[in-house]
Amino acid sequence: MSKLKLWQKEWEEAEAEWETQRQCAAKKRPIQSLKVLPKMAGITAETAKYLKWKSLWWIITKDHQGEIKRGIKKRPFFYLKELVHSLLKKQSFEREGDFFFYGVSNLKEFEQQLQNPAAILVLGFSYCHKPFECPSGRFNDQCQNAPDHFACQQCFIGKSLQASKAGNVIPLLIPTVHYIGGKIFDVVHRYPDRPILFIITACEMTLKMFGDLGNMVKIKGIGVRLDGRICNTMQAFALSERGIKPGLTVVLPETQKKILQLIRQRVEVVSKSC
Ligand code: SF4
Repeated sequence: MSKLKLWQKEWEEAEAEWETQRQCAAKKRPIQSLKVLPKMAGITAETAKYLKWKSLWWIITKDHQGEIKRGIKKRPFFYLKELVHSLLKKQSFEREGDFFFYGVSNLKEFEQQLQNPAAILVLGFSYCHKPFECPSGRFNDQCQNAPDHFACQQCFIGKSLQASKAGNVIPLLIPTVHYIGGKIFDVVHRYPDRPILFIITACEMTLKMFGDLGNMVKIKGIGVRLDGRICNTMQAFALSERGIKPGLTVVLPETQKKILQLIRQRVEVVSKSC
């Protein structure tokens, strides 16, 4: 049975097989990992000041490829109205642990949205939790997910992408905020009549900074908070957006399970609708 069919029909078996392979690869050639999770504030007090305005400034002044400008130009009145609406709210999201909700209030509401087989699901991963040994390199939008490569065999991104193949998702590896902004505009404009959902990993600071942009395009989804060597100052964020990110971030094990659970729900919905 192909791996794809296995994740589709025999989820537990596929996951157990993946875990056996991960342990085997980790014994032979472990990827670098954080031995201890650093205790870091999600965002420093200084950086948190005027965050909405700092975010807007960043989006406008760093839009060198015009991804955001081009997207907004397609429906300028609608987007600007929704943006102002979101900016006027105290917070652009609801939060439950590592999950930040946009356009939905909680996990249950998101799961209900996932039940719609016509919905498009964007599954995005910030580049900063790619392993240092990633054969595709870190600061880019590539993931070759090579089944025989020791790093891919231990990589949560690789596992999620394998598991979600039968779920008809749009996978994205995210190097910058403008990159994901441009991609989201593309998806929204390509499928104007279908609900767009997303699950995207990012640092807490980024989830707080750019929630208004997600609300502007009226998509619904979950921003998953990363742990580890996160960016929690504007300076660290600015360097990371240029690919200077010497630290490793991680999705915590319990949160990994929750993401996989959501992917499983999606795969089941899509399989039933075929
Ligand atoms: S699965 Fe993708 S992100 Fe992970 S190590 Fe392999 S190529 Fe890199």
